Amino acid sequence: MDPRSQIVKYFMETYNKGLNTLMGGNISVRIGDSVLITPSGVPKTELTINDIVKLSISGNVIEGTRKPSSEWRMHLSIYKVSNYTAVIHAHAPSIITLYLAGLSLDLNTVSETKAYIRKISDIEFIKPGTQELADEVSMRVRDGADLIVLKNHGVVAVGYSLPEALNKIEVAEDTAKILLTLRLMTNIKA
Ligand code: 13P
Ligand code: ZN
Repeated sequence: MDPRSQIVKYFMETYNKGLNTLMGGNISVRIGDSVLITPSGVPKTELTINDIVKLSISGNVIEGTRKPSSEWRMHLSIYKVSNYTAVIHAHAPSIITLYLAGLSLDLNTVSETKAYIRKISDIEFIKPGTQELADEVSMRVRDGADLIVLKNHGVVAVGYSLPEALNKIEVAEDTAKILLTLRLMTNIKA
């Protein structure tokens, strides 16, 4: 499958799985020295391969008529510090809830989490779309994290393919649901 079609497919998948709203989140893949990224603010139901923007690794638009995702700095910063070739940002609701409740994801909760995610890191709220957020996220990736929770905002997963990155978000979202349900049951029993 060509990379633009794959981006459209997996972006829609985040919507269908309830990991993103119609306009939320963004996806990119790196191919050599360039990056294909979703456009800013286009509803996923309307998105076609022609809307995908091609950027140089330094951030110049090479191909495409749309505005690149407002998080383009974050995507490029990750590629600059790693060998990863796929980045997915989603607004996964249970992960957001878990951290708002003062709890956190733990790789040891279920075996699947540890099987697919190497290291989880979390970041206090930083305004979306800023270089400050890009710097902080890429620093965590450089330190080995492949799933980064953006508190009060969402999550970023990195990998060597879109299915690999999406799977990390799905596993983390499921783990968050398990932890939240457990907390609820414990409170009911008490
Ligand atoms: P974009 O539509 O500009 O990618 O923004 C969505 C988002 O999730 C910002 O954090
Ligand atoms: Zn976002």
